[in-house]
Amino acid sequence: AKKGSKSKLRFYSKALKEESMRRLELENALRKAIDENQFELFLQPIMNLATGVITKAEALIRWRMPDGSYTSPDQFIPLAEQTGLIIPIGKWVLSRAVEMVKVVLQHQPDLKVSVNISPRQIADRQLFEFVSKVIDHSGIPAQNIELELTEGVLIDSYDRVKKLLEQVRDIGISTSIDDFGTGYSSLSYLQKLPIDNLKIDRSFVYDLEQNENDKAIVLAVIAMARSLKLGVIAEGVENQYQADFLLDNKCDIAQGYLFSKPLPFEQFCDLLIAQKHA
Ligand code: C2E
Ligand code: CA
Ligand code: CA
Ligand code: CA
Repeated sequence: AKKGSKSKLRFYSKALKEESMRRLELENALRKAIDENQFELFLQPIMNLATGVITKAEALIRWRMPDGSYTSPDQFIPLAEQTGLIIPIGKWVLSRAVEMVKVVLQHQPDLKVSVNISPRQIADRQLFEFVSKVIDHSGIPAQNIELELTEGVLIDSYDRVKKLLEQVRDIGISTSIDDFGTGYSSLSYLQKLPIDNLKIDRSFVYDLEQNENDKAIVLAVIAMARSLKLGVIAEGVENQYQADFLLDNKCDIAQGYLFSKPLPFEQFCDLLIAQKHA
């Protein structure tokens, strides 16, 4: 038995070593990506379901590797969070989003671009200063930027998030709670914080047609949003059933592959222009 557990240990330590090597490689590649500007920011249209008009867009980062392939954000954002590299990456994302807004304004002055802000960025004391400076320098109205934060940060760092949300609202930026329903934020938190929208996580939308539980959750989130006077946005809408269900139940803003995947900026602008002339 002793021998067996020793070799097991050796096995685990080998696996651990490989895992940490893999992470180190990814981390180095990520540092290089920052230096060499290997990121792109895509925009996914967010629709008004009742009118079919694009009212917002979510900014989603893409990492284009030197060989031309893309690495999904789910594969590198968590590591960027752990290593702190999300700070420079997040600054790039915000600056790029603001640049995009500047161009988009010529086509559609009231279009909002929403930017994902991760917990590590929230912990950065310079976040608000950076956001307001970038917007100020660009000359765009702050109303054209929205920030998406996940539920978790509301609980982990309530006081500083409250302050941040107040500062952000003061200058006219709106906010959404992302992936809503997957965390544990209580009604009382939501009521006390200056938030504008809840985003229903795509895991609840995915199986809406078959799953009664998901239906109940989606209806509960919509009801909660309405009673708190918040907007509600559904993500991951892939079929007409989901879109109809949401609209019938008073969730009239949504994004998903049914309407469009996240698009490179040029293509997004083409879509806006086509919409204008439709
Ligand atoms: P998220 O913020 O929940 O973003 C929504 C994700 O759902 C995006 O994945 C989007 O492409 C995907 N999606 C949208 N509609 C559909 C649909 O109809 N079906 C399916 N299956 N998926 C859909 P993406 O772009 O791979 O991003 C994954 C996550 O990475 C994001 O989840 C967000 O947490 C993080 N992320 C992406 N860009 C950024 C960024 O610029 N900054 C930070 N901090 N995180 C980011
Ligand atoms: Ca998001
Ligand atoms: Ca989300
Ligand atoms: Ca998500």
